[in-house]
Amino acid sequence: MGQTIINTSCPRDCFSACDIKAYVEDGKIVKIEGGSKNRATNSKLCIKGLSYTDYVYSPQRIGYPMIREGKRGEGIFKRISWETAIDEISKRLKLVKDTVGPLGLLHFTSAGCMGLMSEYYKGFFNQFGSYSATKGSLCYSAGIEAVKLTYGSNIQNAPWDLEHAGLIIIWGKNPSSTNVQELKFINEAVNKGAKIITIDPINTLPSLNSNLHIPIKPGTDGVLALCIANLLIQKGSIDIDFIKEYTFGFDEFKEHVSHYTIEYASKICGLNEDLINEAVNLIANKKPMTLICGYGMQRYKNGGQNVRAISMIPALTGDIGIRGGGFKFANKRWRNLEWPYIPQNDIKTRRDFAEAQLGRAIEEYQNPNIKLLWIERANPLTMNPDTNGLKRALKKVEYIVAIDLFMTDTAKYADIILPAQSFFEYEDVFSSYWTPYLNCFQKVIEPVNESKNESEIYRLLGKKMGYNMNYLPLYNEETIDVCLKKCNINVSVKDLKKGPYLKENSDIAYKERIFDTPSKKIEFYCERMESIWGKSPLPDFKDCFKGTEENGKYPLRLLSTHARERIHSQFGEIRASKLSSDKPLLYINKEDARMRNIKDGDKIEIYNEKGKIFAFAKIDPYIIEGVVNIHGGLKEDTAANVNILTDQDISDIAFGAVFYDCFVEASWYQNK
Ligand code: SF4
Repeated sequence: MGQTIINTSCPRDCFSACDIKAYVEDGKIVKIEGGSKNRATNSKLCIKGLSYTDYVYSPQRIGYPMIREGKRGEGIFKRISWETAIDEISKRLKLVKDTVGPLGLLHFTSAGCMGLMSEYYKGFFNQFGSYSATKGSLCYSAGIEAVKLTYGSNIQNAPWDLEHAGLIIIWGKNPSSTNVQELKFINEAVNKGAKIITIDPINTLPSLNSNLHIPIKPGTDGVLALCIANLLIQKGSIDIDFIKEYTFGFDEFKEHVSHYTIEYASKICGLNEDLINEAVNLIANKKPMTLICGYGMQRYKNGGQNVRAISMIPALTGDIGIRGGGFKFANKRWRNLEWPYIPQNDIKTRRDFAEAQLGRAIEEYQNPNIKLLWIERANPLTMNPDTNGLKRALKKVEYIVAIDLFMTDTAKYADIILPAQSFFEYEDVFSSYWTPYLNCFQKVIEPVNESKNESEIYRLLGKKMGYNMNYLPLYNEETIDVCLKKCNINVSVKDLKKGPYLKENSDIAYKERIFDTPSKKIEFYCERMESIWGKSPLPDFKDCFKGTEENGKYPLRLLSTHARERIHSQFGEIRASKLSSDKPLLYINKEDARMRNIKDGDKIEIYNEKGKIFAFAKIDPYIIEGVVNIHGGLKEDTAANVNILTDQDISDIAFGAVFYDCFVEASWYQNK
């Protein structure tokens, strides 16, 4: 048999949703290349995408259902048949329901692959009864809610529109690690004369051709945003016609930000006043402006207000709804893409808790407590905060089911593991949160070993438990087409297989100046911040930083940014990832290292009251004093999982994780 090329797309929890060409020979993928049908990604894949053959055919992949034979966490399992697995799980489900009721089951899911199908489980568990579940997210829930409250929705100009910008502010995002395809559009804008401002405690200036770098103290972003707003208003560098016509609460906002003086911002944000003035001058003079907001600023207890404050700058300057302008956080143009086969019974009494507080929920929930934990598309023991707290909690759960492709730290705690499929082994539709496209991925190869798609697992269990199979339909192209219709999306899978689909007029967000807020305007003053979340209707930070100058025993702020070669804890199996996990690095400023007698390459212990991890010092000229950084997503056996040190607190709004509110000390490691 010769070689065939099959077009598909990458549905990982990543900005890009790349178009992919999979080369298949004798039923196996032999090569992966970027496809050219997606204008945003344009044939360019990242190192992870190029490594998919390593990933799909990794010898570490779980091939069969398995039950635990060793202690929790030891990773000793025995292969069983699917029949035995389904039998065993259905007995456990019935036992929980009969003894403590459906609330004794906790369903936990996070961000594995994206797609319509990721909600298939609701057709099963809503028949099981009012089970326990999660809300919020480890990733961007605080920011999404902040932008929605301010603008009424989360949409943004198409990636290729960036080339028309005169000024690009990249606030807390490093596309060279997390969104490589965006660099092309940034460079095109620069070649046409655009200026770049980067605002980040880690200096991304070299990779982004930045003209001005603002090395801000982590978590103080909202203060800087309000100070910039204040200075723009004072200078008269705002679009007063736009403000009058399309915004709400400007007078209150103007009075409020007048207290955020340059002296105050300079002190709180650790910045030279000249830098702030320089940024304001660029904003006042270079048009149009696009402000790209990364996801780090919401990972603090004041995260929602941080993002709200930042999002208001383009509204002040009238850069919304125009070519080359806008505020970019997430593109949720296809928010109506939802799994429609969901029975509605019992869900009103469902018990839910913040995803970031899984450990606490297991420890604290009574009547009933959590008897059975079901985990799919997630690896909380690596990715949730407070790993040790979560481990203690997991040991108390009677039964854990995990569905995964790999033996993650979490899977090692399961009682039964079911082998999942990679996205090359089934089909689905999805949208990315960066581009305006609707995409599909299709079945490229037959399932590897005995892996099954989640829908098949739920169908097998549904039959066994006598559930209504109308809510658990056979998952194939026909069903997806029906789903698309039910979601009012007028395109078929057949069309999507030819290439990603773009709605007309989706290049410029808010072109019609329609804002889905109660005032029908962009809300500087947002009453729902108070009525929904009990927070100030104007972004306020005056109480956030009192007494934080001295962090006592743990003076270093620990960040855990994303590594280029991983998405969260995924892709640990590819070669590039193995290299970095063999020698995890702690990025530390020269002065912080000197004060601790740490030299480049030294083995370092990083600790706080929650625990201790180890890494090798990388003296980094691009990170500010008082801040250290280790890439997140490293497994337990690397001894460098940052979440040993993080806490289960949540953000001001929308139940987000606050990974960056984490303080540590670091010292040279003496192997005693
Ligand atoms: S992980 Fe992201 S950048 Fe890499 S191939 Fe997939 S969608 Fe593209």
